[in-house]
Amino acid sequence: MSVFSETSFDDHEQVVFCHDRDSGLKAIIAIHDTTLGPALGGCRMWPYASDDEALNDVLRLSRGMTYKAAISGLDQGGGKSVIIGDPRKDKSPALFQALGRFVESLGGRYIVAEDVGITVADMDEVERITDHVAGTTAKSCGDPSPGTAWGVMHGMRAAIRHKMGKDSLEGLTVAVQGLGHVGMYLCQFLHERGVRLVVADIQKDAVAEAMKRFGARAVSTDRIMSEEADIFAPCALGAVLNDETIPRLGAPIVAGSANNQLAEDRHGEMLRDAGILYAPDYVINAGGVIIISHEGPGFDRKRAMDHVAGIYDTLIEVFTRAEKENAPTSEIADAMARERIAAARRKRHAYFPTAHDVAGHQPKGMYA
Ligand code: NAD
Repeated sequence: MSVFSETSFDDHEQVVFCHDRDSGLKAIIAIHDTTLGPALGGCRMWPYASDDEALNDVLRLSRGMTYKAAISGLDQGGGKSVIIGDPRKDKSPALFQALGRFVESLGGRYIVAEDVGITVADMDEVERITDHVAGTTAKSCGDPSPGTAWGVMHGMRAAIRHKMGKDSLEGLTVAVQGLGHVGMYLCQFLHERGVRLVVADIQKDAVAEAMKRFGARAVSTDRIMSEEADIFAPCALGAVLNDETIPRLGAPIVAGSANNQLAEDRHGEMLRDAGILYAPDYVINAGGVIIISHEGPGFDRKRAMDHVAGIYDTLIEVFTRAEKENAPTSEIADAMARERIAAARRKRHAYFPTAHDVAGHQPKGMYA
């Protein structure tokens, strides 16, 4: 296994393999880019089938965090960590304290938080060792899901504005796949704005709740993507937009919270060719990260939620530019994120030219 030849390797600044004999911790921390600030990104605990699979995941996810922070205008970099293990069987306070020691050793270049398989209690253990942690009982501004759903709702407004020239969601139909933390709040916000809902979830009680609270119409999980609607909102799984599903999508807009919605990058182009407007996942689902960026003493929820609503403007810019440049929205979002990082890098080097810069060489490493 070579980090540098992994397909997901994207000029990552630092990749740390962590092993603690006593607790059994096996983890990888990937810091993708800290140009805009310390790398913030959750820790995922998963029984990866191989070290290679874990490495690939952490490289891909950390890059996604860089792009999400950059396009959202946050002064944060992108990082992520993965613990190789089963979250139902392999957790212990010692394991998370060991993770805390590795995070601490990075001196604030990486800030850890929750992701799949990790709870607030786990992060509380990490906090016993290091301050470079978010989402703990002491610091947390609570569940980020309402913030994420709020951002998705505003992202839908942008999509409707761009595609249909409308300013209101009222009377539209939205098909929501997944009624978990984000999906249920999203249904609530949409219902309050007079949207008709079609929903699907593998959990029958969640479906029953949406029917009861919002008058939603339920369909099977197989049918939700092809339901005729104005917007399809994937709020469950990744890779839902692929060769098999795109031709049978029933809505002209895809706007939802799920991470990594495109099975492969080329599916952004396929959506565009099919005349479907795609709100890039890391742009529209950034609400949670934006809320977390406000965390700390004096947390002001209203201010944070207003900041999240700015996802509307970001997406209008993505859609407008994609149309002008005749390119997929996913590619334009990547380009916008990269441009912000490149501008920050140029500015930094203009103020602090290094010996390498002066000699006409590329600087090596973050602080070169
Ligand atoms: P969750 O686990 O609370 O909810 C997911 C829901 O999807 C569950 O109710 C589950 O039963 C349902 N589901 C699973 N398979 C399904 C299928 N085949 N068809 C229909 N429904 C299915 O997760 P969440 O926190 O609501 O997050 C949803 C998505 O949004 C995830 O992809 C997550 O990574 C992403 N996301 C969440 C946040 C956040 O703030 N929670 C932020 C950014 C991105």
